[in-house]
Amino acid sequence: MAFQEKTIDHTLVTRQMIQTFVERLGKQISEDYAGKELYLICVLKGSFMFMADLIRELEVPCEIDFMSVSSYEGEKSTGVVKINKDLDRNISGKHILIVEDIVDTGLTLNHLTNLLSTRNPASVRIVTAFDKPMRRKVEIDVHYVGMEIPNEFIVGYGLDLDGYYRNLPDVVVLAPDED
Ligand code: 5GP
Repeated sequence: MAFQEKTIDHTLVTRQMIQTFVERLGKQISEDYAGKELYLICVLKGSFMFMADLIRELEVPCEIDFMSVSSYEGEKSTGVVKINKDLDRNISGKHILIVEDIVDTGLTLNHLTNLLSTRNPASVRIVTAFDKPMRRKVEIDVHYVGMEIPNEFIVGYGLDLDGYYRNLPDVVVLAPDED
């Protein structure tokens, strides 16, 4: 579908706010994993920007890998999670940190953590840039949260609407269509 630009209704999270929480998370994670090595899993595509920022704040040795799962069509959760791209490496014995853009219903991460746990990692934890706890359908342990946000559909900082708006440096809410 061709791009039809929508108006920005309001900015929810500025780039400065993002930078502040990324630094805080990087410090916390570096402390928690001191003396260990980390294997970071970026959940594509939305998390690529957060991953790039977070990794520069980490002071522990780390490797990165990418996984692509889909659970969303437009703005609604389908509850169906499909693996489009699996990890490149065996994660047995590794300390895994799943890097997510946003946790909403929790269905995606629930599926992913269960799957990764069957591969014998030393540990599995989750870091997310944004969290919508009010929307949770399954209980999951999210160890590190950048920022809790209200129940609004956000775009920017890697997050998209139908593939667009990932390039916005701030996180915004788009205005609804007029018709
Ligand atoms: P969950 O399985 O937790 O419901 O959904 C997680 C995924 O849904 C996220 O990785 C993201 O791709 C998408 N998602 C959930 N909420 C939002 C949102 O407010 N904006 C955007 N752009 N994607 C969202």
